[in-house]
Amino acid sequence: NRRFLLTARPDGTPQASDFTLADAPVPAIGPDEILIRNHYASLDPAIRGWLDDVPSYLPPVELGDAVRATTVGVVEASNAEGFAPGDWVMGLNKIEHYSVAKLGGFTSRIDADIVPSVTNYLSVMGAVGLTAWFGVTEILKPKAGETFLISGAAGAVGSMAGQLGKLAGARVVGIAGGPAKCKRLIDDYGFDAAIDYRGKDVEALTQAIGEACPDGIDLVFENVGGIGLDATLTHINPYARIGLCGLISEYNGEAYGTRNLWQLIARMATIRGFLISEFLDRFAEGGMAMAKLVAEGKLRFDEHIDEGIDNAYPAFLRLFEGSNQGKMILKLV
Ligand code: NDP
Repeated sequence: NRRFLLTARPDGTPQASDFTLADAPVPAIGPDEILIRNHYASLDPAIRGWLDDVPSYLPPVELGDAVRATTVGVVEASNAEGFAPGDWVMGLNKIEHYSVAKLGGFTSRIDADIVPSVTNYLSVMGAVGLTAWFGVTEILKPKAGETFLISGAAGAVGSMAGQLGKLAGARVVGIAGGPAKCKRLIDDYGFDAAIDYRGKDVEALTQAIGEACPDGIDLVFENVGGIGLDATLTHINPYARIGLCGLISEYNGEAYGTRNLWQLIARMATIRGFLISEFLDRFAEGGMAMAKLVAEGKLRFDEHIDEGIDNAYPAFLRLFEGSNQGKMILKLV
């Protein structure tokens, strides 16, 4: 059982030396447990937060333990009612070839026959797809004609959030890194305008956002934070609503003191942090809504799959370098 262990707490951007690949015997299962052969692991920016020993919505990954991740795999052995060998399952497990899950935890069966690829349960039908769905339809609720700005727009969550905004009739503007990603926003995801943040300081970004949003900004789907959020705040309209989904530019500890919070007061705006787990009891509904849009050809999503547990570190790092082209997934089998 090859496992991707956290062996040192990262200081800033995670280094290869913070992790160790180790081989261990395949674990035995106890009562109410299942043994899962993990096929794919979802590499999410949130994992970076779990590596720090700070209070959060989940306990930190313990030093010496395998790094936590959502995985999709096949049941190899089961002592748990409702799970049989051969069943496809997904759950919050670890980056390792075999995981043990206990009944009553976050592991559930999935139907591999209704999707083109089981990886879809980690992308459009998974947490990122649901984050886009509930973030847009429940937190932000865009209306026709509103200007809807999305940061991290070419990524897994951002690209789907933008398309959902377009379906609601909003004018959708995305911020992404580099000309190729900006071109994809327009050509592949149907955004109305795209802003390349790379190489821009807060002043230049403020100007670029102003040019792309001449009527101001009504709604923001914030994935990045840092100078982009600061620049955005100067262009918000009265009663603007900001859905704070992520702050990836700050996850590696690059603190940035937002200077324009005053604009929230001046524009009587709302900033609302949200977690996908708020909508746990509605996941089936959201997954079905996303699957329907895909089946109707109304929603495009991309997956970036790297192979092999030995590549877990470089694959994870892509999220912070911006070299992932779609939902970042690691193939383990
Ligand atoms: P993405 O597929 O968007 O990948 C991460 C992208 O972030 C990179 O490709 C890169 O794109 C961009 N990025 C990385 N570092 C920086 C930086 N310093 N400045 C600006 N952009 C940067 O990942 P996800 O779609 O999985 O996640 C997007 C966001 O959503 C994250 O903040 C994540 O934490 C959040 N999230 C929140 C959830 C919730 O429940 N609230 C659930 C799931 C995700 P580029 O090349 O454009 O720089």
